[in-house]
Amino acid sequence: GADLARRLPVRVVVPTADAMRDLGRTLTTILEPGDVVVASGDLGAGKTTLAQGIGAGLQVEGPVISPTFVLVRRHAGTGVRPGFVHVDAYRLGSLAELVDLDLDETMDESITLVEWGAGIAEELERSYLSLDIRRSGDPADDTRIVYLEPVGPRWEGVDLGILAALAGDG
Ligand code: ADP
Ligand code: MG
Repeated sequence: GADLARRLPVRVVVPTADAMRDLGRTLTTILEPGDVVVASGDLGAGKTTLAQGIGAGLQVEGPVISPTFVLVRRHAGTGVRPGFVHVDAYRLGSLAELVDLDLDETMDESITLVEWGAGIAEELERSYLSLDIRRSGDPADDTRIVYLEPVGPRWEGVDLGILAALAGDG
């Protein structure tokens, strides 16, 4: 809900698609089962590219591709690391429809990334990591600026230094 405690956003400069995958991999070192990442940013911003890095970091089964047509793709974990639930909320109007996908149980034991989730994120009862991907104004520039904002009690006292260490000045 709207009353969830927010922390200051961490700003990360991401110059290339590979760097975006690296950011996803790095995120998996702090993510735990039950965690939800809500990714926003326009078409082609790099949400799915980031998801590929999360999948690589978790070493999940199957290629991580856009769940646009299936709405949700579930990737089994290794048994040591959690699985990955990859949701595309673009055509979902509300949180109720997300819950209809029957994700709750899987979400508790997995790491979930919701693309296009910003509209419904405010309805979430659970903590989440908001991740907003922005392009630079110049179309010839591949650089993305990512704003990571932890929302809710899950993140209280969690050291985000590893993310801050990625933050650039660019
Ligand atoms: P979305 O899921 O947000 O629609 P995608 O991840 O599917 O976006 O597509 C992003 C595209 O932009 C990919 O083709 C990727 O290779 C390219 N790209 C170029 N530079 C970057 C960058 N710095 N970060 C992420 N993707 C980038
Ligand atoms: Mg996508």
